[in-house]
Amino acid sequence: MEQTQKKVIVSLKDIFVRFDGEVILNHINLDIHEKEFVTILGPSGCGKTTTLRIIGGFVEPESGDVIFDGERINGLPPHKRHVNTVFQKYSLFPHLNVYDNVAFGLKLKKLPKDEIKKKVTKMLATVDLKGYEKRSIQKLSGGQQQRVAIARALVCDPDIILLDEPLGALDLKLRKSMQLELKEIQQQTEKTFIYVTHDQEEALTMSDRVVVMNNGVIEQTGTPEEVYNEPVNAFVADFIGEANILNGTMIDDCRIRILGKELECVDKGFGKNTPVDVVIRPEDIIIVPEENGQLIGTVESVTFKGVHYEMSIRVGKCEILVHSTRSAEPGKTVGMRVIPFNIQIMNKLLPIEDNTIETTVSYSSPDDNSFEFELEDETVTVEGHCYPEGSRLKIHLPFDALSIAGEGEGDLKDVYIESVVYKGEHNEIILESDSRKWLMLSDTDEQVATYVPLWFDFSKAVFEVLDSPETEEG
Ligand code: ATP
Repeated sequence: MEQTQKKVIVSLKDIFVRFDGEVILNHINLDIHEKEFVTILGPSGCGKTTTLRIIGGFVEPESGDVIFDGERINGLPPHKRHVNTVFQKYSLFPHLNVYDNVAFGLKLKKLPKDEIKKKVTKMLATVDLKGYEKRSIQKLSGGQQQRVAIARALVCDPDIILLDEPLGALDLKLRKSMQLELKEIQQQTEKTFIYVTHDQEEALTMSDRVVVMNNGVIEQTGTPEEVYNEPVNAFVADFIGEANILNGTMIDDCRIRILGKELECVDKGFGKNTPVDVVIRPEDIIIVPEENGQLIGTVESVTFKGVHYEMSIRVGKCEILVHSTRSAEPGKTVGMRVIPFNIQIMNKLLPIEDNTIETTVSYSSPDDNSFEFELEDETVTVEGHCYPEGSRLKIHLPFDALSIAGEGEGDLKDVYIESVVYKGEHNEIILESDSRKWLMLSDTDEQVATYVPLWFDFSKAVFEVLDSPETEEG
């Protein structure tokens, strides 16, 4: 009987990996089906390669199960798994010709010569290298070497091919044509391809399904259309394609307020007056005469991009990106419309109103009008305010009271940048320190997955006394 649902060939169940005490994969779950082209996509350092290496058997998880065809294969060495890997630096043998490189694995398996010849010839035809058998590896172009590496991985007939940024070293044009070729090879051979890249366009072009990772977790899994059209959060929306990501308020079901205007949308179930992230793709904004606009803005710049014009339109302090086949003059005031279906509503990545610190004053200096408190093994000094030692405080720090300090400075010395999302006006940055997360606004671009020192501007803070020793005594 014809099966409509493809069989799950490999499953990762609750995989947890730590390197040097640092969490690299945080309880990830993933099912990959037979004959599927799955791409693991995410920024550098998010754990893509580690996920691939778990499947290949090169890394053992601290906990969680790797299931292959219904059987748990934790601990099984790589060569006993039905998996082959194509690396970015193809690891071909430079002293062997094309034929011998592809035949290498089959010779190790001690297959009869005729059979090896049949298999290698067929595989070289599949990767479009017929006639190159005797050519030295060093006399091949990057793209041809790539195809040899793929042929070598495929010829041993594994169920799964793992590809770790295999096109990373090629120039843009070659990469584009190899993307299509790879997809064709996958369809022709009917193997499961698990592909790792940080290039979103590559992922959308080739994959049946895209797995979007960030900071050791899977943010979303879906078809290219699903992750593009229905991103689950601002991180995915920002990472996949170009997007206007705006702060909004869900007034009620199907009613959203953005940039001071109320618009109709199709989403429900967010509650009333809930702060949300709103995504509008540049190609979904229609330029109309000012009087017909739901939003009104001033054209700041126009760039011709071949198929469309890319326009930056300012609405108040916010910059909106528009892709339109019709151009508008810089300086002109225009109207913009978006149909309700094209307004995507998402929960905020970090649903907080400010960065609140609840703490106890550890040292008080009335003479200097300052006090100290302990925060994650650091002593933080607050100037311009003084509370008695032992006071319990709630300190409300607005998002713009946080900034990245110079090297060796700062109130917290080593804070991890988890995500950076441009919100039309500034970047919204989520940071993670030892015990919690922080949200910061910044005009500069910061690199995700790096560690920075963090500085608090307490002149912007609001202090709330929860419990004061003097009050108790008095
Ligand atoms: P890239 O796109 O840069 O290759 P990635 O998403 O594939 O990144 P991984 O290679 O999985 O990321 O690495 C995730 C994190 O784990 C990184 O911070 C990396 O430095 C760290 N890491 C990877 N392998 C090891 C290891 N063997 N020992 C210690 N840390 C490691």
